[in-house]
Formats: sequence, C-alpha cells, structure tokens
Amino acid sequence: MLELVCNNQLFNPYVDGMYGGYWKPKKYHRNPRDPGAKLEMIEVEQKEATIRRIKNEDCLDGWKVVADKLVEDNLYKRTHNNILRVFCYEEDVTNGWRYFALEPYSATLYEYCTGRYKGAMPNQSQVLYQIVNGICYLHVEGIIHGDLNPLNVVVAAHSQPVRMKISDSRLTTFSEVRSEERMIGDGTSLKNLELCQSKYWTLPEQKDVVEKKADVDFVAAGCLLFYYLKSAKHVFGDDLESILKNLKEKNPVNLKELSNNHVAYDPIQKMIIPPTNGLSPLPKVKEKFEKALSLQVTDKLLGHGSFGNVYEGKFNGDPVAVKQMTTTTAERKIIQREMSIHMELNHVNVVKLLDVADSADNRLTQLVLELCAGTLEDWADEKKYNGPKLPKLPPDELVLYQIANGLHYIHSRNLVHRDIKPDNILISTTTPVQMKVSDLSFVKKTRKDIYSQSEIRGTLLWLAPERLKFLGDSELPDATIKSDTFSSGCVFFYFLTRGIHPFGKNVVDVPVNILKNKQEELVSYKQNLAADDVNGRILARLIEDMIQFEEKERIGLPEVIKQLAAVLYGMDKSKFQLSLVEASLGWDYIIGSHPTELILACANEEKLIFYTAENLAIPFSNWRKKKEEVTLQHLNLGRVYSLEWNINRTQLAARYHRDTVVWSYPECEILFQKKLPHFTSTINWNPTRPNLFAAHYNGDCQVFVCDSSIGDVITPIDCKRVSAVKWISENRIAVASSWNGTIKIFEMEENNLTTTRLVKEFTHGEHCDYLEWNEMTQYLASFSDNGIKIWSMDDDMPIYSLKFPLQKEEEEKVKDFAWRLCTGNGEEEGGIEMARKSANNFTFAYASPRNGVFIWNPLESEQQPRRLSQEKYIETVAFSSDGRFLAAGGKKKLLIWSAEDWVQINKVNMDMKYGLRNMSFFTTKSTNLYENKLTVNYEYGDWSLIECAFEESNISDSASEIPTESAEDVMDLK
Ligand code: ADP
Ligand code: MG
Repeated sequence: MLELVCNNQLFNPYVDGMYGGYWKPKKYHRNPRDPGAKLEMIEVEQKEATIRRIKNEDCLDGWKVVADKLVEDNLYKRTHNNILRVFCYEEDVTNGWRYFALEPYSATLYEYCTGRYKGAMPNQSQVLYQIVNGICYLHVEGIIHGDLNPLNVVVAAHSQPVRMKISDSRLTTFSEVRSEERMIGDGTSLKNLELCQSKYWTLPEQKDVVEKKADVDFVAAGCLLFYYLKSAKHVFGDDLESILKNLKEKNPVNLKELSNNHVAYDPIQKMIIPPTNGLSPLPKVKEKFEKALSLQVTDKLLGHGSFGNVYEGKFNGDPVAVKQMTTTTAERKIIQREMSIHMELNHVNVVKLLDVADSADNRLTQLVLELCAGTLEDWADEKKYNGPKLPKLPPDELVLYQIANGLHYIHSRNLVHRDIKPDNILISTTTPVQMKVSDLSFVKKTRKDIYSQSEIRGTLLWLAPERLKFLGDSELPDATIKSDTFSSGCVFFYFLTRGIHPFGKNVVDVPVNILKNKQEELVSYKQNLAADDVNGRILARLIEDMIQFEEKERIGLPEVIKQLAAVLYGMDKSKFQLSLVEASLGWDYIIGSHPTELILACANEEKLIFYTAENLAIPFSNWRKKKEEVTLQHLNLGRVYSLEWNINRTQLAARYHRDTVVWSYPECEILFQKKLPHFTSTINWNPTRPNLFAAHYNGDCQVFVCDSSIGDVITPIDCKRVSAVKWISENRIAVASSWNGTIKIFEMEENNLTTTRLVKEFTHGEHCDYLEWNEMTQYLASFSDNGIKIWSMDDDMPIYSLKFPLQKEEEEKVKDFAWRLCTGNGEEEGGIEMARKSANNFTFAYASPRNGVFIWNPLESEQQPRRLSQEKYIETVAFSSDGRFLAAGGKKKLLIWSAEDWVQINKVNMDMKYGLRNMSFFTTKSTNLYENKLTVNYEYGDWSLIECAFEESNISDSASEIPTESAEDVMDLK
C-alpha cells in the first residue's frame, strides 16, 4: 500500500514539482489475543498533503537524514511551530523521483510579497520573529537550510494562529536547476520569480561550497526579511544584474530605504554581512524580535478565569485584553476549540478575538481580545468593582437588544454558548457603547458531537432547568439554544433590576426555585410596575416568555429580537439608522434577494451561498447559511455581475464574465451554462414562463432568447446596438437601441418560440437607455438622459412624456429612473382602463448626479417634476416592490423616503471608492420599517449589504431636510 498519493494536479504554479495529494498515516495494531504476533497495519483515514516531487539527482547529500528527522518530529508531534511539517516520503526508483508529503500551506512569501496572496497573515512583528525563529531552530538541530528564498518561506493559514513556516529544509540542491524549467507566468512574474534562485540570496563566495556553512542562511534570512518588509524588493538592488554585482561587492544599496530606527534595520544589516568571527547573529536577532513582538502583556489584572487570568495588554499599539492560558495537555483541546471557533466570529455584540499568540516561552497560549470596560456584573455591583470607570450604558431596551443580537449571532453560526451569565457579558469601551457576549470556553456545536457534556462550572444560578435537573446524573442532556435563551432571560432581568435574579434574591434559593419554576422576583417586579409603564410591561412579559420552564414554551431569540426592535422603533424613530453590514459574506459577492422569501443568494466566482433568517427584524449580520454552499471554482467562471431569480423562484441565473449560468433552486443543479457571444450584460426572465430568459450585451446587435429547460439559446433577435430589453408579456419582448433610439416590439409565436416577428416600433429619441413595463396599465416606459416617455401598444405617439433640459456635461445627465409599481391584487375594479386613470400608477423617480433626486407624476395636476433632494452624486433609484419606499444611492449617500408622503426616513453617509452596481429592497407585508432591508451592491466593494438597523447615533439631521420643491430647471413638453 502506498502511503503517499500524488494527484498530479499542480498545486502551486510558482514552485516546480508541487502537487496536491494526500497521504495515509501508518497505524499499527497489536492483536490483543496474540501479543507476540507481528503488528498489523490498519487502514487510517487519508490526510490532505502537499506533494513535493524532486528528482533524485537534485536531492542534496544527506537529505535522508534531514527528512527522517522531520518525519520523526512530525510523528511525535514535536515539529517546531515555524517549520513546515514533513509527513512522509517515498522513492520512485524506476523513474528517479522522490516524493515528499508536506503539510499543506496557503502561499509562499513570494506570492504574498508580489500581491498574489491576500489571505490571512500573522502581523509584521510576528512574521519577522517567526522566520528567524524557524531558522534558529534548524541551526540548533544542526541543519543548515542552504536554500532560503521567498519560495521556501510559506504561510500556513490553516494553523491556529496563522504561522510562517520554513520549508524544503536541506532537501534539494539549489534552485537554479528548477528555474530553467519554469513555464508559467507572464513576463513580469517570471522576472520576479527568477529572483527566487539561490544565487540572489547568497554571497558569491558561498555559492560553490558544497558543504555549506550556516552563514549562507544568515545572508538569505536578512535578504528575506527585507524582501518581506519592502514588498518583494531586494536589499542588494533592483534588477537581477545589479543584485549579483552588489552581492559580490557586499553593498546592500537598498538598505537605506528602511528607516534606521526600524526594529529590523540592525538585524538585517548584521545578517546580510555575516561576521567574520563565525558567530551566528541569529540568536540576538531572535531575541530582539521577540521583545518587539506586537503583543505586550502588562500585569494589570482584568479578571480571573478558570483557564487562566485576563490581563490588560497592547497589541499593535492598541490596548487589548489578553487571556492567558496554560497549555497543559488536558486543557489544550478546550482551548483550541474555543479559539478556532471564536476566530471565525465577527459581530459587534460578540467580543472579538484579534489574535492567538504563543507566549515567547511557548508555555502559554494567549488569546488577544478586544479590550472591554468591564462586565455586566461589575456594572450591577459597582461597590465590589474596582476596575476602570464604566461608561454610561445605552437605554435599557437597546442593551437587551444588543445582548440578544450577539447571542443570536452565535446561534446562527450553529453554536450554543452554554455559559451566559452577567460576568460573561462585557461592556465595550467604544462610543456608542455596545454590549458584547464573551467567554466562549464552553461554546459547542449545536449538532450532536462527541465532545463530553459533563463539565459544568462555576455558579448554577444561570442554568436552565432542563440542565440543572440533570446535574447530579452522569449524563447531561445536550445544551440547546433554548437553554441559552433561558439564561439570557435571567440576565435581562438581572440587568433591568440592577442585580436581582428573577428566581430569588438569595443565591441559595435560586437553583431550587428554577427547578420549582418559582419566578419569585419577576412576580413581584411585575406587581410593582407603574400602570403606565408600557415598555416595562412588554419587557417583563418578554423575560417571562424567555424563562419558561418548558423548553417548547420558551420564546426563541428571533422573536425576542423582533419584539425589542419594535419597542426601540416605537421609542425613537430618529435613532433609526441604516447600517452597513460587514460582510460575513466576504469580498465581491453579488446579491440577489428572493422576491418573496427570506433568502439572500450571494455569488462570487468561487461560491454560491444562500442565507436566511427567521424574520426580517434579524440583522443581516446574523443571517445563517440556508444550505451547504455550492463551490464553483472548477467552473472557471470569472467575475460575477448579476444574479436574478426567475418568476416562480425555481431558478437562479447568474451572469459571469465568461458564462451565463442558470441553477435550479433549491437543488442547485446547473440547468444552463453557456458562453454567449460577447458575454451578456443583462438577464431578463420572462414574466410568466419560468424557463425562458433573454440575455444581451449592451451595444451588441443580438438578444438571445434562451430556454433553461433545454439548456440552450432558442432564438437570437437581431437589433442594432441593443441598449435595453424588457419582456412585456409572455410572448412579447421590447428591445431598445442606442443607435437610433428606436424601441422594437417582437412577438414570438405561442407554440413555436423560435419564430419572432416585429409587431411595433416606437422612437424614443436619439437613444434609449432603459425600459420599464407596467402590467396594471399595460404601458411601456422608455428612458434616456433626455427624457421619459410612456407608450401604449395602441398608439404610435407617447401617451405622456417628460423632457429633461439639455445637459452638456456628462456628469449632469440623468442617470437612472424607476417606476413605482403598485402591485395590488391585480383584480382592481375597472381593470386596465381604471388603472390608466389612477395617478397612483404613474409615479416615476429619477436621479441626476449633479441636480439631485426627482419624482414625476404625469397625472398630477402640475405635471411638474418635484425635487426630493439636492444631494449630489446619486446614481441609482429604486422603489420597494410594494411601492412603499423609494431609495436613492450613490458613492457618498444613501437616502430613503416613504413613497406615500415623501417624508425622508433616512440619510446615511457613505464613503465608497466605487460606484453602485445595484440596489434592491427586501420587504415584508409588515408596515414596520425595522422589518425592511435594503441590499446594495457596490462595484468591487467589500460592502455589499445595507440594512435598516438600530444604532445609537450622533447624526440626527436625518429626518429634517425634506421639503420637496418643484424644479424650475425642468420642463414638461407635453
Ligand atoms: P473564564 O472562561 O475563565 O470565565 P473569561 O473569558 O470570562 O474567562 O474572563 C474572565 C474575566 O476576565 C471576565 O469575567 C472579565 O472580568 C475579564 N475579561 C475577560 N475578557 C475581557 C475583555 N475582553 N476585556 C476586559 N475584561 C475582560
Ligand atoms: Mg467567564
């Protein structure tokens, strides 16, 4: 049986002979009935590895000794943190290859420094320290690396914490051999890559010595650190030739580019010109970097924990809290679980874990946490507390909302906290103040897992009855999110009453009362509430629902959040702000919100993910994955531009740079994948036929009508310079041209969709940019920067029209328009004729980057556009699907109005580098604004989602400047 399997898929294009693969660790089994027998080898699960293939003749003399040592180190789990592990190796004698199975890694230093890798990295002082630390270790073990270069220093992003590792220790001869074979890369990358040959990392006199001295590693290490600090620059020169020359002359010409008080200046200088006395500069350098490690721990104690104490510290110059934990084997598992889970979490109401760092002596694991002011317990009992001054907390309702929000976020990530109590709720030092759920030492996956449940610690006061009940038994039932809800209900009460437990004032009674379901204190609290204290009653009721004895009667956190949101919204509407949602979604996703359900489809070139939540009051940050994400890497699709749901939401179409793809939903099978000529720019689903869509590219001369059920184009429609396409019924499609401003209506035969004929033609003007169809009035609207026209199919002239004043500057031109569609139930009295007379059906909005946002209604008496806002640089306008809201957005601002009375609800300042791509509302039938969300995609933005959420804010100018004005500079022609 082979131990090592190479899948022959090139793993890293920058290093020759690197492949993906796996290896099977050897495991032996002794037959208990026959202790004398030979050990049997048993099958073990294979593990992922990076496979390094090296020609026999390229291996250095003595490679085997080093390789054996590294394999053994790995076997006994004593591989140094900064050395890449070697799992095993094998020889292919016939073909003259040796295969090494190495620990997988994320990137080489070369990729990081040349900008090809943008993933996780340790911070700067850690990188410096770790590289030197790894090399020092090799030297102590008597191993000279001999070929240190940017390809042999790697980033292991999978390890906790992320670490730099030295690879390829003493396995191969020098990299010259390899670089000649290199095939990939454009000219520039090849040039950078050539720099990785070992002759650029050693002094010429060191080159020919076969039995190298440790000196060669000093020089290389010095050059590497500089290369890292100066993003791929070489300390001895800017081009290959001068580097060689300067190495020969020992003239590090670029060193001056590093400030001489930089912590690495002296070390680099000492390393690149090695001392003549043969002493290694590395131990001193290591010591210096160790001292400069960005984490400093003071002796100021913040709190005692069961795994260790929490001290104040500094991390990259910022104050932090450092939870120090000894890493004895028994606790190691718990600690590692805590940090790997915690690292992934990112929420305003959950304490952020900034870094995990081994202490310099490797005895402690240090969790670097965002520094908080104190706990809820400290706050309730300020007499006992002697830490730094606690800030004034936000209104009670908001405090509760934040706690619920943080805990619900943890639940949404499939975790149970299991230790919610006042001393695990921290108070931020930020303004506005935020409550933070902390201490994830007992967090657990909600799915049943093997981890033992038996440990219960500390006080029993906050434990749900179903957990308390079983305390004496050996087997504790699985903690559920409902148990967390119970604990948080108790914490809510504790907070509202400044320190009282709902089940009793006397700590001895509490567990007993919990088991007896005797909510002593809550009962008397309710009795003492003032008659007019409406919110007090709501909150008491809420807590009562949260601490119900029976789990199934206990309210869920989604409902808690919704109720608190309602209370908050009722309290103060001016505090109602839009907030950006930090994408748990990552970078450059396009978002398509499901038209009727709480589902958000997000796609980028690698993944398709669906998010969902229990109700629309849940902030986007807490939305959870609806199903396993779909990976798309192998499809090689390129960048994504848009995502569109079809009419009955059974399919989702995405426009990628290369292909147009349609998935079935929810199965996510690919129904259609095609490279249409001139990649498409827009996808238009047919309003009644679920498989039919039209795709086109602006400026192209064809529209492709496609059928996802047959996975192909069924007919192309020819039209010069297509600028907009809109289905206007199941068989009719309107196609606008930017060439002469005509709008052509094509009709497809009912039973043979492949034949199309032109049935109507309008002329919008010089060109036409957008089309919109209104089902109720059966009118088509066309739009360009010179005006809006509304067409009936029975007339050749527009029914209404608005002409925008001539704008010379590109900037001043009207950019976007929207037609408010009042969906209604479609059965309004009077049908089309009545609909055509109702002013309600004729509200248009448009935005001009220079002049602001306008609305226009041709049926209103004056027929004049009204200016809603003078805000500049608005690029996009959109109505919510129910017609209740209008949003306008640009790089700098997002504005929202009620479309009923045009009161401006909201204004948010943004500062986006790139323009807006699209914007759409998520709406429910509820009239509560807190149950509305807006999704916004920015071009290349990290921010893609915007939502209405609660936030204490100092900006209160929002609702003030609203007056609409008639715009003198706009004329109506008709
Ligand atoms: P344990 O798991 O042992 O309970 P915690 O993480 O709860 O450890 O920390 C113990 C105590 O340390 C907390 O109750 C609190 O007083 C203090 N503490 C923990 N984290 C922070 C922090 N980020 N900022 C300020 N104080 C903290
Ligand atoms: Mg704690």
